[in-house]
Amino acid sequence: MPESATYALDTRGERMDALEQYFREAARELREPGLALDADPDAVHRFLHLPAVRLQQHMLTPARYARHDDVLPSFVPAEASCAEWILAAEWLAYGDPGMTLASPGPALSTVVLRALADEAQQDWFFGRTSDWPTWAFFALTEPEKGSAATELTARLDADPSGEGWVLSGEKMYIGNGAHARVGVVFCRRATGPWGIEAVMVDTGDPGFHAETLPIIGLRGARISRLRFDGMRIPPERVLGRHRPRSRRGLQGALQAMLWFRPSVAAFALGVGRAACDYVLEQRPALAGAGRAEVDGMIDRLNRLRRLLRDVAAEIDAGSPNTFRVSGVKMRAARLAEDATLLAARLLGPASLVEHPWLDKAYRDVRAFEFMEGTGNIHRRGVFQGLLRDDYFTSRDRDVRPGRVAEGVV
Ligand SMILES: Cc1cc2nc3c(=O)[nH]c(=O)nc-3n(C[C@H](O)[C@H](O)[C@H](O)COP(=O)(O)OP(=O)(O)OC[C@H]3O[C@@H](n4cnc5c(N)ncnc54)[C@H](O)[C@@H]3O)c2cc1C
Repeated sequence: MPESATYALDTRGERMDALEQYFREAARELREPGLALDADPDAVHRFLHLPAVRLQQHMLTPARYARHDDVLPSFVPAEASCAEWILAAEWLAYGDPGMTLASPGPALSTVVLRALADEAQQDWFFGRTSDWPTWAFFALTEPEKGSAATELTARLDADPSGEGWVLSGEKMYIGNGAHARVGVVFCRRATGPWGIEAVMVDTGDPGFHAETLPIIGLRGARISRLRFDGMRIPPERVLGRHRPRSRRGLQGALQAMLWFRPSVAAFALGVGRAACDYVLEQRPALAGAGRAEVDGMIDRLNRLRRLLRDVAAEIDAGSPNTFRVSGVKMRAARLAEDATLLAARLLGPASLVEHPWLDKAYRDVRAFEFMEGTGNIHRRGVFQGLLRDDYFTSRDRDVRPGRVAEGVV
């Protein structure tokens, strides 16, 4: 390797180490607020001063809209790469995943905007989400169309006045939907996948209705039901309207999900690791079979972490393997659930009553199965990758004894 390449690797490694150290420290402050949020999801307003709550907005905002103040150190990047964001997501979730999802910022919509929007549209959207505190939503799921998202039915009809569009329909389970100022809504202008459009809405406009839904885990996500009742959409709010039909609406949704699936895996990984550490804190003398089970779980989580970093690096390099992303997301949701089940078993029959944090983690992790696609859908993705012989990397194909191909169920 040339010397310059080694140097570049070292400095990048050092920067990631500094970031990780910072995220770890910042996330420590989230445990207590997380429990408060579980009791009252709107309690996030009491914690807006915490640096950890500022991270989502800063890291997911394009650099030219990011506002630098002294809440975060200057080495925390705006417009973070996928690798940088999953590092933050893992540690933030180790602190509390609900607090991260409740934090203001552009959230998933940032990827749709970056993929599809022209400059004026980015100004419109990020100009608003850069105001602190502002929440944004990403509305794809509908009451009867979750996994089958391409069959969505929300309609975008030509405005009878002759200019612009009219949005009608419902969306379901939308994070921060009832608290957001702006959002991106996927809707149908014509039949078929290329008839899907993505439009930006201002929730202050007439025709927008929202209610927060009750949920037993990950309550900070404040999932909502939204209704668009003949909401007027000016032509300039249709994202990617300068692009061909095959490269807008649905394309934006797919890119956002691809980019954020590793984040959900990172959330799951963070909570899974926290559950293992919690057992060891509570039972420092744990030995024998129980200790071996915790060690085994930590091993599996560490292997997942490596895979997660690989898929994030592939996304950043512009050569994502969607099948492996599916494998990692599916595996992470499963492991997080297993880690909380293991913790509950090892801490005794009344553990969920005696340990409020564990009770919350045990409920929270169930949401990861549903976010960014369920296990069944990802299992199908992995299977398709295997059929096409496009799942394993050359490193996985190393068949020397002792090499185990990871990442498949
Ligand atoms: C905390 C949280 C936050 C969320 N935030 C957002 C958000 O911000 N924006 C948004 O748009 N959505 C959001 N969602 C919704 C999420 O994306 C959906 O829950 C998910 O897509 C699954 O859809 P569904 O719940 O309708 O389940 P369904 O699609 O009805 O699936 C129900 C069950 O059937 C199985 N199933 C479905 N289809 C198939 C198939 N073809 N083959 C085999 N099995 C199948 C599934 O695996 C699942 O077990 C959020 C969900 C949660 C839990």
